[in-house]
Amino acid sequence: MDRLVILGGGESGVGTAILGKQKGFEVFVSDKGEIKENYKKVLEHFEIEWESGEHTEAKIMNADVVMKSPGIPDKVALVKALIEKGVPVISEIEFASRYTDATLIGITGSNGKTTTTMLTNHILKDGGLSVGMAGNIGDSYAKMVAEKDFDHYVLEISSFQLDGIVDFKPHIAMITNITPDHLDRYEYKFENYIASKFRIAMNQDKDDYLICDADDEVIQDWLKKHPVQSKVLHFSVKQKLEEGAWLEDKTIKIKLENKTLEMSEDILALEGQHNVKNTMAASMAAMLVKVRKETIRQSIQSFQGVPHRLENVLKINHVEYINDSKATNVNATYYALDGIKKPIVWIVGGVDKGNDYSELMPLVREKVKAIICLGVDNSKLIDAFGNVIDLMVETYSMEEAVKVAYKVSERGDAVLLSPACASFDLFKNYEDRGDQFKNAIKNL
Ligand code: ADP
Repeated sequence: MDRLVILGGGESGVGTAILGKQKGFEVFVSDKGEIKENYKKVLEHFEIEWESGEHTEAKIMNADVVMKSPGIPDKVALVKALIEKGVPVISEIEFASRYTDATLIGITGSNGKTTTTMLTNHILKDGGLSVGMAGNIGDSYAKMVAEKDFDHYVLEISSFQLDGIVDFKPHIAMITNITPDHLDRYEYKFENYIASKFRIAMNQDKDDYLICDADDEVIQDWLKKHPVQSKVLHFSVKQKLEEGAWLEDKTIKIKLENKTLEMSEDILALEGQHNVKNTMAASMAAMLVKVRKETIRQSIQSFQGVPHRLENVLKINHVEYINDSKATNVNATYYALDGIKKPIVWIVGGVDKGNDYSELMPLVREKVKAIICLGVDNSKLIDAFGNVIDLMVETYSMEEAVKVAYKVSERGDAVLLSPACASFDLFKNYEDRGDQFKNAIKNL
């Protein structure tokens, strides 16, 4: 019996354990932190051996295969030792994909993964297809494969998951965009991070598709130097294309092989140019799996978006409050500032991951009337924008930030929380930050 060791007892670890057990592995789950009570119960229910709060090397080094949770870096000593010994260390998507014949749609990129994954899933469901949505989102993919295998999976895939693939081969792969992120896990080399994203296409062949952004220079440069086997389909909001998706006269036009689809930009329930791109990518995938045009049009109109991503919260005294707490890097914030067509009172700050704010400067000059800094250390923001924006206020809690925003905003403005930074200086995570924002607004 092969021994499967799972490092990390979270959603993906426990899901993998269930699938591994079902497939006849001897399974052992090890988590250096505390495994949550509900997961412990599940493991016990399936009679799977586990440990919490430590890694017992003797029970790990004898593995035939190891599934590592994406949160654990490769440079951890234990992982290094396993790799040196020649034990395959893989990710959940690699493991689970070995046990399904479903059509896989894999979505990666620096920003827009969750939105595009949810939108694609929404359209496929409306098209009546049997579809499971997983990856970094919601329930574990491996658990779904074990419990009720679907005909299609829409998978949100981080670069960390891609680092752990061997044979994973999506029929449709998407790279929404690539901007520097998580460089601490890639030896501070942008090329390593780009290479990691492109692993999504490494096992594809000529019958598969790679959907990506024609306007993204990083992606295009890379493709020139490293051609892929699969058929590349582009989307663009800047140029007309022979094939793929583009924008013409405020209409999204899609042409794929012998199929076409046109949709007015106005029907999109989601705002912002980035969502036009996400919609193009999701619609192309839906066309490739043969969802009807009319269904795609209707489905796009009914998609209400994802919480914490340019989420409209409330209108108070003709001021719109918008929660974009998920914007944890500069690129995501760029799209928020770009998409909003009103004067903006901007709440920004948190843990800076090496941000370069210069690309925001033109938008800030044009649209932002006040900046409310919300972070433990706001000095970088003050250095960047102090000379450009007259009204800058430092705050140290969400309640205070929202109160100040309420005071300085006027009829016709938008108050935007789009931090461009991680949240863990003042909040548990970006959801907590967004929820506190929404609560503070409701308490005004
Ligand atoms: P991810 O799952 O990749 O983090 P999300 O869909 O959760 O992406 O969105 C994260 C942030 O990026 C949000 O602020 C959202 O408004 C913004 N965003 C969404 N789609 C795009 C895109 N295509 N390009 C740039 N930013 C985007």
